[in-house]
Amino acid sequence: MGERVVLERLTKIYAGGSRALDEVSIVIEPGTFLVLLGPSGSGKTTLLRSVAGIERATSGTITIGELMVAGDHLHLPPERRDLSMVFQDYALWPHLVARDNVAFALRRRNIRGERARELASSMLERVGLGHLGERYPNELSGGEQQRVALARALVADTGLVLCDEPLSNLDADLRERMRLEIASLVREAGATAIYITHDQAEAFALADVVGVLEHGQLVQIAPPEQIYSSPVSPFVARFTGLAGELAVAVVSDHSDGVATVAPEGLPSATRLICQRRRGSAGLRRGTLMIRAAALHLVGAEDPMGQLQGQISDVAFRGRGYEHAVTLVNGVQLSGIFSATRGRRGDRVGLRVDPNGAHLFGDAANSANDEEIPFDLSTGDAIEIDISKEFTTL
Ligand code: ADP
Ligand code: MG
Repeated sequence: MGERVVLERLTKIYAGGSRALDEVSIVIEPGTFLVLLGPSGSGKTTLLRSVAGIERATSGTITIGELMVAGDHLHLPPERRDLSMVFQDYALWPHLVARDNVAFALRRRNIRGERARELASSMLERVGLGHLGERYPNELSGGEQQRVALARALVADTGLVLCDEPLSNLDADLRERMRLEIASLVREAGATAIYITHDQAEAFALADVVGVLEHGQLVQIAPPEQIYSSPVSPFVARFTGLAGELAVAVVSDHSDGVATVAPEGLPSATRLICQRRRGSAGLRRGTLMIRAAALHLVGAEDPMGQLQGQISDVAFRGRGYEHAVTLVNGVQLSGIFSATRGRRGDRVGLRVDPNGAHLFGDAANSANDEEIPFDLSTGDAIEIDISKEFTTL
């Protein structure tokens, strides 16, 4: 069964002085599939290698199940941590055939010989490689090698599986199939998983819980739906996918953290309703970050359209079309889905769902809070019936 994993104030400072992990604390409940998401250099690999015992943490503790594996002067080697790992570069033994690569992992369970080969073969069957057990790694494609690595990790039957960007060297089609296999095989095994990636779509698709890393700090940890609906910072919002950003002035505040804003550079009557996020309380200006899912194309003259612009790009996506729309202030909003194809150059309107429009204060804007280049006295535009606004969604 899956182990409970607890990291407390885990910190790693490399010899050169770079602080790769900065007091990261996480409690991972047994059987949870945790995905750590962050850009290159945010500390993902360092965190995974510290949990695995390949890297020695500078301070903080790591507990796996009942066992503290890292802490003050304590550092258990990888083989005493009851875990298995899948690496980006597969890391198979080149001199062993696929089946023996998998069978080797059974040594930690003291299973050897014929029994080990049987178990290895049946695990290779499960990852769809039953027929390739006698091949050496250099006789296998990247996807096949990664399947062998996955089989090796799962056959060990550990309570914790660690994956370091295992799909990043595979092509798109294979990546999606492997993602499904990893998700179902790891969950079937009941193991706790820590899986790291820089790919937001992969993180959202796999995770029970997503942790976002920025410069070695864990800045948000929550189910993917919550990260998407309530990003805690501009960094998290950007890293998890935006249609675009608008500089705005705050026109009025409503209860429940909802505000009405006026985007800069658009007709003065333009008003949008949005969610106030951390750091935007009391500010009169900020940045509106809009999820693509919150934008809906309507006709240019449609009164439901709150923003006006021109279609600047259309991409066929199989189940429909993604549009980019350039507003009159030059800002481009992209990823706007519609079942029907719009034409480049067409004038359109956009309806903005307040739930996917997030207002953040930002230091650059708040510095000269007083200069608001809008005529806020155009009272008629400010009077928006919010109840009506919400019920039409
Ligand atoms: P990620 O996996 O998110 O790309 P890493 O954990 O590999 O990030 O790296 C985090 C930071 O630590 C980076 O700034 C990186 O340059 C630094 N770093 C990683 N490994 C070492 C090392 N062996 N020595 C010094 N600095 C390192
Ligand atoms: Mg890495």
